[in-house]
Amino acid sequence: MPPSDRAHARLTIDLDAIATNYRLLGKRLEPAGLHAVVKADAYGLGLEPVARTLRGQGCRHFFVATLDEGIALRALLSDVEIGVFNGALAGEETAFAAHRLTPCLNDLGQIERFRALAPSAPAGLQIDTGMARLGLPPQEVERLAAEPQRLAGLSLSFLFSHLACADTPPHPKNAEQLRLFRTLTQQLPATQRSLANSSGIFLGPEYHFDFARAGAAIYGVNPQASHPNPMAQVLHLKGRILQVRDVDSPQTVGYGATYRASGVSRIATVAVGYADGYLRTLGNRGSCFVGDRQVPVIGRISMDLITIDVTEIPPQQLTPDTFVELVGPNHSVDALAAEAGTIGYEILTSLGHRYHRNYIGKGS
Ligand SMILES: *Cc1c(COP(=O)(O)O)cnc(C)c1O
Repeated sequence: MPPSDRAHARLTIDLDAIATNYRLLGKRLEPAGLHAVVKADAYGLGLEPVARTLRGQGCRHFFVATLDEGIALRALLSDVEIGVFNGALAGEETAFAAHRLTPCLNDLGQIERFRALAPSAPAGLQIDTGMARLGLPPQEVERLAAEPQRLAGLSLSFLFSHLACADTPPHPKNAEQLRLFRTLTQQLPATQRSLANSSGIFLGPEYHFDFARAGAAIYGVNPQASHPNPMAQVLHLKGRILQVRDVDSPQTVGYGATYRASGVSRIATVAVGYADGYLRTLGNRGSCFVGDRQVPVIGRISMDLITIDVTEIPPQQLTPDTFVELVGPNHSVDALAAEAGTIGYEILTSLGHRYHRNYIGKGS
């Protein structure tokens, strides 16, 4: 029996949908550019197939979070620019230069060391306009502006900052960060500027600058929670029904006896659990689809199993060959994330390694 036939849970990634999303965002951004964020194994979807698909769409600029991720991507693609958000820590400078990776320098010390140890290698600067997370705070930008020799010998590729509330368009923080980003970058040498992530692209052209850095929307996550999702669905997750039981007297279901089946009902057990990234917070809150019918997850999520209430589903649809839709056309990543009390990003980056993975489409 081939592994695909004995798979208990299937994860399908649609490379054509990734290509479509890349093009859609690219159009929306024109004349600004689109740089693809492929950190965390391309948000859990697989660095190699995703990066090759995007390169096939003409993407020449990528971002990752760490030096190791940059080295892995460089091994796949030799002719692209790769930025590393987390910056170059002391001792990493020569590795950045050797692998032709562009660090996002986050403080004055990193700038000092990088221009000394990797002269003329390209670097970006991250400016903190209100996240208080990474990057040069405004006082350090002003110091750089006042003492331009601090940048001497640095080959400055770009200046960027990250929005805290881009997924909430009316939030006043967006305009505040935009204003501060303009003010601070005007004091530094002219180079490419970037402010928007996926959601930031939809805040309007004044947020586009020279390029946007998008991850989530390329992978199908809705960039604007309050609007219908314009992105194509990339991820499909299915779990196989392992067992079905009829209950005719009150009985509790699963660990902790947190669910009580009260009357006559039918319960199906599906082969997916928190070890697969089906988050434990989905216990008694999640749902999935059997055919086109939505059914609730009942009881807690186990490591390898979930239980669902299939009382309303005709028995002939509940054979051991039945795969239920956990994420798919009926149930988006965002819908599952909302049930779990989280965001699509966490669903994607939590995907486990036990699924039978299948890439469909040619990435065109
Ligand atoms: C992850 C990340 C992005 C991409 O954000 P999305 O919301 O996934 O588009 C952009 N910029 C920085 C600094 C990041 O850390």
